[in-house]
Amino acid sequence: MARYTGSSCRLCRREGQKLFLKGERCYSGKCAIEKRNYPPGQHGQNRRTKVTEYGLQLREKQKAKRFYGILEAQFHNYFEKAAKKKGLTGENLLTMLEARLDNVVFRMGFASSRKEARQLVTHNHFTVNGTKQNIPSYQVKAGDVVKVKEKSTSSPKFKEIREMQITTPAWITVDTDKLEGKVIALPRREEIDTPIAEHLIVELYSK
Ligand code: SF4
Repeated sequence: MARYTGSSCRLCRREGQKLFLKGERCYSGKCAIEKRNYPPGQHGQNRRTKVTEYGLQLREKQKAKRFYGILEAQFHNYFEKAAKKKGLTGENLLTMLEARLDNVVFRMGFASSRKEARQLVTHNHFTVNGTKQNIPSYQVKAGDVVKVKEKSTSSPKFKEIREMQITTPAWITVDTDKLEGKVIALPRREEIDTPIAEHLIVELYSK
C-alpha cells in the first residue's frame, strides 16, 4: 500500500493547524506550527490568496486524509461506502475513519500517534477478539476487544504503557494492566473530536 513518506510537520503547516502526527513532539515547543505557522515553501510567508468555496472544501478533505493518514483513492473509497450507508454521509465517513484499527489503537493510548499505531499494527503486535490482525484499515465493531499480543507485552514500549494513566474517548475502555481495550460502541459525531467540517467534504465529492 502506497503511503506518504514526506515531512509530517509540513502537512500541518499546509493546513495551518496541528494535526498531531508526531506524538509527543506535537505537545512540545518543538512543534513546527508553534514556530512557523505559515504554509511551507519559498513564498509561504507571503502567500495571500483569497480562498474560494472549492478551495475550502478541498482543504477540508486534505486535512481529513492527513489526520487519519490515508491517501486519495482509499479516502474516496470510504466516502463511497459512507454514502451508501443509512444516515448522514459525513458522519458515516468520520465513524468509518474512527473505526480503523490503527485509529482505535491510537485512541486506546497504545501509540502516541496514528502513524506509530499503524506501524505497531503492521508489525503484528495486536489481536482483535483473540485473532491476529495486522491490517491498519481493519474496521472494528462494537464489542471488539483489541489486545497487545502476549509475545509483545514484554517490550519496553508496552511495559511503559502499563504504568500510564490513559484517557480514552467514551466509546472505548482500556485496561492498561491487561494491555487490552474494548470498543463499547462505534462513536457518534459528538464523540469524535477531530476538527473537521465533514459537510464540506460531502459538498466537494457531490459536485
Ligand atoms: Fe504537526 Fe506534530 Fe509537527 Fe506540530 S509537531 S507540526 S502538530 S506533526
